[in-house]
Amino acid sequence: MKDYSIETVCQLNDESIRDQWGALSFPIYQTATFAHRGLGESTGFDYTRMQNPTRQQLEYAVASLEHGIDALAFSSGMAAITAVMELFSPGDHLIVDADLYGGSVRLFNEINKKNGLSFTTCDLNRDDYRSLFRENTRAVYLETPTNPMMNVTDISALAEEVHRRGALLIVDNTFLSPYFQNPLTLGADIVLHSGTKFLGGHHDTIGGFAVVKDKALDERLRFIYKTTGAGLSPFDSFLLLRGIRTLSVRMERAQENALKLAEFLKTDPHVTKVIYPGLSEHPGYEIMKKQSRGFGAMLTFEVESEELVKHILKNLKLIYFAESLGGTETLITYPITQTHADVPSDLLEKNGINRRLLRLSVGLEGAEDLIEDIKSAFESFDSVNPK
Ligand SMILES: *Cc1c(COP(=O)(O)O)cnc(C)c1O
Repeated sequence: MKDYSIETVCQLNDESIRDQWGALSFPIYQTATFAHRGLGESTGFDYTRMQNPTRQQLEYAVASLEHGIDALAFSSGMAAITAVMELFSPGDHLIVDADLYGGSVRLFNEINKKNGLSFTTCDLNRDDYRSLFRENTRAVYLETPTNPMMNVTDISALAEEVHRRGALLIVDNTFLSPYFQNPLTLGADIVLHSGTKFLGGHHDTIGGFAVVKDKALDERLRFIYKTTGAGLSPFDSFLLLRGIRTLSVRMERAQENALKLAEFLKTDPHVTKVIYPGLSEHPGYEIMKKQSRGFGAMLTFEVESEELVKHILKNLKLIYFAESLGGTETLITYPITQTHADVPSDLLEKNGINRRLLRLSVGLEGAEDLIEDIKSAFESFDSVNPK
């Protein structure tokens, strides 16, 4: 493919499956099966669990954005992660970062362990992960920045070590989206996405991706894909593709808003900590500048009391108190009771996820209005709880 800018890549189509009438918006091929013209004369599409034109357009877009040779579109982010874990066999060992999406932790602990995999959890930034490799270590799994603590890992440095040990490096790139970061180009072997988040971008559908750059790995994953059957539906593929068309403008605007909110929160006395990798004091700032094109629109902050958390969640008018992230509307999440409810308490404590911590997924509203919304909640708290 020609070396287009990423804004242009968001608009490209897989020319090998052009719509025969020239429809600019690629149609939803709502069909379970495809007729063959004769023996050995498949159109390339046989059965939608395996291939579908709408889904293929989407997979082309995601593979192009992530610089992979193939992207597999799943019915959810968790379905993508589940399929990737099927690459491993009983007895295999994985090293996983300590701060991960809660659903991934639940999958590893409650499903994959039962099926014979073992895991060592460590903080890839602070602990000596090199000493944790075993004979049977097959992969290292991480997110960067992490959810919700925004820890940043140097992907290329890690990739070198992981490959020296003959293991795979798997990166969940949901938080930055391919617009800001491309782990495959930094040495990762598999990139995962919850397409539900920034790629879809509108809080209106669930989807997920696994992206690879190696042909043999792709063949193994495609086999798991057609066998286990969690492919994304044609309609959801259409919605995801539509979301990707505006990825660049959404990411830029959301990031701009996130920085303004982070700057505001830093100055407010109700706030005891602001964690946003786009602030120069963030410990991962320099690594992010090296490996990403931006800092994203996710930020975490800690307030002075649990009572204030409760008040904020009840009194915000514009910002929604809801799970998920990456859509046009700003959402606030309480990790300890929502995304991280199933994470063991010792791990929560180790990561610093406490009852005063809130996470924002910053959307596309006016930054002044978002700041005003939070300010009003602080003020109404003070009026009922005078100091
Ligand atoms: C939401 C999320 C997932 C899971 O994706 P679903 O689409 O909800 O299944 C995985 N990883 C991260 C970082 C997420 O935010």
